Amino acid sequence: MKTAIVWFKTDLRITDNETLVKAISQNDMIIPMYCFEDSHFETTSFGFQKTGSFRAQFLIESLLDLDNSLRELGSGLLILKGKPEVEIPKMVKQYKAHRVYVKREVAFEEKQTESLVQTELWKLQCELLTFSTSTLYHAEDLPFSIKDIPDVFTNFRKKTEKDAVIRKSFDKPKKVNSPEISRPILPTIAALGLDEVTIDHRAVIQFKGGESEALKRLNHYFFETKFISKYKETRNGMIGADYSSKFSAWLALGCIAPRLIYSELKKYESQFGANESTYWLVFELLWRDYFRFMMKKQQNKIFLKSGIQNKDLSMNKFDKVSLQKWINGQTEVDFVDANMIELRLTGFMSNRGRQNVASYFCNDLKLDWRYGASYFEQQLIDYDVCSNWGNWAYLAGVGNDPRGNRYFNIEKQAADYDKNKAYRDLWLNH
Ligand code: FAD
Repeated sequence: MKTAIVWFKTDLRITDNETLVKAISQNDMIIPMYCFEDSHFETTSFGFQKTGSFRAQFLIESLLDLDNSLRELGSGLLILKGKPEVEIPKMVKQYKAHRVYVKREVAFEEKQTESLVQTELWKLQCELLTFSTSTLYHAEDLPFSIKDIPDVFTNFRKKTEKDAVIRKSFDKPKKVNSPEISRPILPTIAALGLDEVTIDHRAVIQFKGGESEALKRLNHYFFETKFISKYKETRNGMIGADYSSKFSAWLALGCIAPRLIYSELKKYESQFGANESTYWLVFELLWRDYFRFMMKKQQNKIFLKSGIQNKDLSMNKFDKVSLQKWINGQTEVDFVDANMIELRLTGFMSNRGRQNVASYFCNDLKLDWRYGASYFEQQLIDYDVCSNWGNWAYLAGVGNDPRGNRYFNIEKQAADYDKNKAYRDLWLNH
């Protein structure tokens, strides 16, 4: 009898989850589990929580949904809390598992944890098998080796679109053989050391975690409303649920796979037609892939103040007062303030907003960009290590931007994207 553990991380779904599919096909018994990692709930060296309340709430909802889906297949989700290198081996012993299946990590800290767990498992003669499951293009199908991936996005995109193929999604499993797994008791927000929050009623969307919600959102944005056919024209919007897909939070926790979005998009295009907008969503998902592959290529350089460009940013310092004003939305630049208030009260901000507040932080306030990135890490409901730190480094002029320094003229941006001040009124005058 072969027993294996499936260790869920940021892949909280059952559809198109190669890790789960492979574990089922290669073993007799599966024990699905998730570990609330202590390190994810610590304070960073920049003074922010690694996981804030909005994302923690979304995570709890996603885990409950995953447990329900697994139960429908005859299984369930075990919940652990602590250090994975301690907790996972305990489970391996308890269930006499010979293998642990898990998604492959790319970022520095996550890779360190992966390797600590692997070391402990070797001592138990248990193998750790990792699968690359979070990108649209599989790393092995790229037309370059990781070290040769171009440092300019356009070069990466053109060659990848021309020479690589997106793999087919894996179907949802029909059955998962597991021993009896009792209903999980999830930690409360307070038990995670966080404050209870409710998303402000002005939020673009009342995000709810889980694969089921992700699929609902996809169906809404594609088939029910066909908003996807106008995405390219609306994506720079800032108010309301439908100016952009809002897939990011579900993608970040892996409640939905980019490949599934792609295959649904192809279905949509065959029914309702392809246009620049339908293509543009794939273009944006490619940016997501790119930041992930860059993380793999550049490793911890992405987190350095001098970035991958080794640039001298000694002029940009830490300044507690300016930082706090920026966080509170008290900078005296109303467009920045409105966006920062939205982020503080909802855990979300549009892409247009993110670019502006980050540029203001680096170029106008001349602060150390890593503090801004770390605040986003705490606050964003859709925080993703690669997308967040990659975008911040880009805007700070130390990442993958061929132009070197991307300065946003905030007054002009506000005039272009919030002409009648509806967005600023929403967040500053209500
Ligand atoms: P859509 O416009 O509908 O795009 C579809 C999907 O494409 C998104 O869900 C996302 O997965 C991907 N995508 C779009 N733009 C980008 C981009 N610039 N970089 C990477 N992926 C992209 N995105 C995150 O998912 N997590 C983060 O932590 C994050 N931090 C950011 C920090 C800064 C400073 C900036 C400028 C951008 C950041 N982004 C991040 C990218 C982008 O702002 C969000 O993905 C987007 O606003 C989410 O809304 P949406 O799902 O409606 O996007």
